[in-house]
This record gives sequence, C-alpha cells and structure tokens, in this order.
Amino acid sequence: MSTPSRAVRIHAHGGPEQLVIDTVDVGEPGPGQVRIRHHAVGLNFIDVYQRTGLYPNAMPLALGMEGAGVIEAVGEGVTHLKAGDRAAYASNPPGSYCDVRVMPAMNVCKLPDAIDFETGAAMMLKGLTAQYLLKHCKPVEGLEPGDHVLFHAAAGGVGLIACQWAKHLGLQLIATAGSDDKCQLALAHGAAHAINYRKDDFAAKVKEITSGKGVKVVYDSVGKDTWDKSLDCLRPFGLMASFGNASGPVAPFAPGILGPKGSIYVTRQTLFSHITSRERTQRMADDLFGVVSSGAVKIRIDQRFALTDVRKAHESLEARATTGCTVLL
Ligand code: NDP
Repeated sequence: MSTPSRAVRIHAHGGPEQLVIDTVDVGEPGPGQVRIRHHAVGLNFIDVYQRTGLYPNAMPLALGMEGAGVIEAVGEGVTHLKAGDRAAYASNPPGSYCDVRVMPAMNVCKLPDAIDFETGAAMMLKGLTAQYLLKHCKPVEGLEPGDHVLFHAAAGGVGLIACQWAKHLGLQLIATAGSDDKCQLALAHGAAHAINYRKDDFAAKVKEITSGKGVKVVYDSVGKDTWDKSLDCLRPFGLMASFGNASGPVAPFAPGILGPKGSIYVTRQTLFSHITSRERTQRMADDLFGVVSSGAVKIRIDQRFALTDVRKAHESLEARATTGCTVLL
C-alpha cells in the first residue's frame, strides 16, 4: 500500500527558488524503519548547506532533518516505538519537510507527553547539538562551573538553547550576535555577557571580560568570518570547537599557528558522530527532555511557516532575520 505525501525537494543545488513541493508515494516501513506522520518539522541551517551544495547530495533531494509527529507503522525489529506513539527526531537521511515519510527508527525517540509537537520538532537537532557541545566537547582541562566559554550566533536556534543550558551548568557563557536586540535576547536567556560582533571587536571584548585570560572553549558555527579572531579568544590549552559555517567554510590553515596561541586544540564536530546508536541517541534525548520538561531550557519558536512557504523560511534564515527556532507546519 502506498500513501501520497507532499515533500519539499530540490532537483538541483542553488537558492531558495530550487525548493519545490512534489507529491511522492510513501510505502510501508522495512526492517528497522518507521512511518511517521508529521505535525511539525524543524528548520535548520544544515538544510541551507544541503540546498546550496556546500554539503552535496544526490538529486532529487528531499530536505529536512528534524520533525515530530505520530508513528503510523513500524517495521520488523523496531521495539522502542509502536503505531500511535508520539515521536520526534533529528536524523539522517534528509527528508523531514513532508507530511509523512518512512525513515530509519534508530534516531526516532518517543516524545514525552508534556512536550508538544511544535516544541519537539524545533528542539531535537538543535537541542541534541547543544547537549553534545556542552557535555561531550570539552577542553582537556575540563569545564567547571564559573568557567568562561564563547558561543557565536547565540540568539539563533542552537544558540538560545545553549545559553540556557550553559547557565544551568553554571558556565559563564559569553554570547556573540549580529544586533543589539539579539544580544539582549541572549542575555535574557542566560548568557553572562553579550557582544554585538557586527559592531565590536569580539576578541578584544572577550579579553576585557576575562581579565586577559581568554576562554576555555569557543563554540563557533559561523565559520569563515569568526575563525581567525576566535583563535585569539582562547586561553592556553583551550579548545576551538568548530561546528558550522553560516558565513562560509573555514579556509585551510597550518597547524603551526596553534602553538604560539597557547598550544590550543581544534576540533570539527557534527551531531551525526554522536548519535550513531539507539542507546546513545536515547541517552542524549533523555538529557534534553529532562531540561526542557523541568523548564531549565525553554524552546523558543519565533517563526512559524506553512510548508508551502518554505522558500520564505529559507530566505529569512539566510538573511539573519530569525531568532530562536523556526518550524514548518
Ligand atoms: P541559527 O538560527 O543560529 O541561524 C544562523 C545564525 O548564524 C544567523 O541567525 C546569524 O546570527 C549567524 N550568522 C553569522 N554570519 C552569518 C551569515 N553570513 N549568514 C547567515 N547567518 C550568519 O541556525 P541553527 O540554529 O540552525 O544553526 C546554528 C549553527 O549551528 C549553523 O551554523 C549550523 O550549521 C550549526 N549546526 C551544527 C551542527 C553540528 O552538529 N555540527 C548541528 C546543528 C547546527 P547573527 O545575526 O546573530 O550573527
């Protein structure tokens, strides 16, 4: 039996004009798969990289890596979900911008009753990213309450979750953001300091805030525009954690530059190295569900678009016109 579904796909890499709504047939789930009917799907910057071809994929490509809805059917061997369960996920392969899909069950988690579908759709990819960054991507000297970390683009989807979670962990998060209003938003969500990096020299400000010492970790998803100065924000043995390229990819560099800056460490992280098993995905998701359910981390959805307005949603995200999370309905 096949079920028709709208699916946002691209047939060639390019701008938002490449996003088209096709009708596709969705079949029955095979071994290790589920069929999920979405109530909401999350928009993420990685969807932009996949659309433009910065992260290339075969065509046609169905976009979207995050969603929440109800399980309609499960394939052989799937024991953690059943038809009728509320569920949410961050997962490969892309394809969440649709009504209904068949997908691997491994990264799909039961959604606690206290968390609504829109929140579930908005928080999985961004929240699990904040989780691994703050809990598993640490400097060799560790992270203790009171330590300073620098977090770029802190008023965005991942950013506002990280601000709150860092505060919950007792960290002094120094936020950067692209406007004074965005800086205020980061401060209202737990950042200890905020720097408008379109106006101020963030490396100089970080030195000022940390009395010349620098931070233990820089979490950098902006990439090209912030890379060089970010290296100057670290204290000796600090960690440069690159996890995105909103302004473009980081240029190649010689490891020799890391010594004089204090024998600093560099890593390039992706969520998909962290959620490679069902157990690990569930452990991280439970941690996220815990902070969201307790209210320590609030998932702020500042933009809602109809699936048919997906082009506008991409344009807003790329124009730096969004704050917090964005969902497609
Ligand atoms: P955001 O909501 O944070 O949007 C991206 C933000 O980046 C913008 O709002 C803007 O904030 C900032 N930015 C800086 N320079 C530019 C530029 N030239 N063009 C566009 N935006 C720019 O998106 P997400 O929450 O979805 O993701 C945040 C980042 O984290 C992305 O880079 C994403 O790829 C990365 N990511 C990485 C993951 C991983 O595991 N590696 C997983 C999830 C996300 P401002 O105006 O304040 O500068």
